[in-house]
Amino acid sequence: MREILKRAIGEGREEIAFGETASYIPELGRVDKNQLGVCVYTSEGKKEALGDTDVRFTIQSISKVITLAVALERCGFYKVFEKVGMEPSGDAFNSLVKLDLSSNYPYNPMINSGAIAIASYLTPIISFKKMLEITRKLCLDEQITLNSDVYLSEMANISRNKAIAYLLESKGIIASGSVQESLDFYVRMCSLNVTAESLANFGLVLALGGVHPETGERLLEEDVVKVVKTIMLTCGMYDGSGEFAVHVGIPSKSGVGGGILSVVDKKMGIGIFGPALDSKGNSIAGRYILRSLSRELGLHMFS
Ligand code: GLU
Repeated sequence: MREILKRAIGEGREEIAFGETASYIPELGRVDKNQLGVCVYTSEGKKEALGDTDVRFTIQSISKVITLAVALERCGFYKVFEKVGMEPSGDAFNSLVKLDLSSNYPYNPMINSGAIAIASYLTPIISFKKMLEITRKLCLDEQITLNSDVYLSEMANISRNKAIAYLLESKGIIASGSVQESLDFYVRMCSLNVTAESLANFGLVLALGGVHPETGERLLEEDVVKVVKTIMLTCGMYDGSGEFAVHVGIPSKSGVGGGILSVVDKKMGIGIFGPALDSKGNSIAGRYILRSLSRELGLHMFS
């Protein structure tokens, strides 16, 4: 496994030069783009970590997986999908074009419009503090905290997400008067500091259908995890999800902080940190690492 990881990380590293950090959030633009780490945690209890797997970075859009799971548990399937779809959008994660032109609802919970809508369902019923506790539990990582520099940096550059939130409010998708608190909740969740290892842990929890890999404690309901993994497969890698599914075939979710969470069903969780992003917002090295691991270890879900 270690040799395979080494080769995969080597393939990924060659791509870093072609990627850039997410400078639209200035604090993320300052991150060293050459960092790279991959951690694999298997259902047999083996963990392999290579490279920068203990470096903290912000979870960003990967938090959408957590908010979706919590919303499904607390609000129920019908409330969550009443006004948020399940279809890939084919557009950038922060696009609001189709939301106004051709669809009344956000396409799915993995793009900003869908996630902000879901944040608005959660704010009246669950505190950020509780969400932080849940995140720590799901990632088997008690050290997760809010990165206040990134939080403040994003809040100071929030115009596009604000535009999305007001559009949602105008359409009655989020309750009137809830724009500010929904955005604050959404950005706080995006600003949680994780590691590649925490993502591998979370990936294994999802791979096992929502069960803690060491204690067997149920952390998420099984049918919720099934929905979450399916949406990750179809919508988790921005508007590159289709191509990624063909080449890699592992349900995954990326974030503009450079993280990728991957779930090899029943077998393993994979966490990656590589802050140089491709034009769609996915970790460029991360994509190549996963492609290599999928090929070498036969992880494609249809192989
Ligand atoms: N906080 C980021 C934003 O809303 C998350 C984007 C992402 O990781 O896709 O722009």
